[in-house]
Amino acid sequence: MPTPTERAQEILNSYGFEKPSQIVIEEIANYETVIIEEADLNGPLGQIYLTGDFALIKIEKSIREAGQRRFTEAHELGHYVIESVNGKFLSFLCTAEDINSFLSNKKKESDANEFASELLMPREWYLKFINRKEVSFDLIKECSSHFEISLTAAAFKYATIGIIPTALIMSEKGKVKWSVSNNYFPFKYIEKGVSINKNTPVYSIFQKEEYNPEKTLVPASAWFSDDYNCKRTTYLYEQNVYMKNYNSVLTLLWKSEFE
Ligand SMILES: [Zn+2]
Repeated sequence: MPTPTERAQEILNSYGFEKPSQIVIEEIANYETVIIEEADLNGPLGQIYLTGDFALIKIEKSIREAGQRRFTEAHELGHYVIESVNGKFLSFLCTAEDINSFLSNKKKESDANEFASELLMPREWYLKFINRKEVSFDLIKECSSHFEISLTAAAFKYATIGIIPTALIMSEKGKVKWSVSNNYFPFKYIEKGVSINKNTPVYSIFQKEEYNPEKTLVPASAWFSDDYNCKRTTYLYEQNVYMKNYNSVLTLLWKSEFE
């Protein structure tokens, strides 16, 4: 069975796309006999009804951000491409949590996200785009506009496929919601639901609404006190994007040259 990433690559190759602006989900859907329409879903962001050779996708009409809409469409298309092989009638109703958490424990939702991420940000293109550029949220923002994708989706891609040791943490209301890191990042364990340590800039955002968008040096132990590899003398760069409307902070951590 091909992986969701391989499925997305098959589509990219068969259409011969060369740049992100050519990847128009509605057009791919048309070729694949999938109809996309807007609807009032009252909560969920996307929905799909599918059989072996036909599908109907509904996208919540109140989604404003273009990147979010694009990702939701690609996510639903992912359900079709991955599931329609067995020809049975299926339907999925996908919440913001399913589509934006990236680490959903529902396998079919995380598969659809993996498909969408690869379809909209093919890894070869992404690696070429970030090659030799200094890590920071400025670079992630460049990726986000180049690939027409949300900042969180672009950051997630960066933190999972880049070669610079990086971790990405989403926290909400003072607690860690999810975290991810690439193979080169030396520390691993951030427990979901754990309270943000007071020695991190994120703490100041949640507790005092003091938001500094610049990168700062923080002791690695402020994030990874449970990791036995973590020495007191190790420092990391931390940079944050405060999403005030969602009471959430997206944190990028990367290794500093100071030990
Ligand atoms: Zn879904």
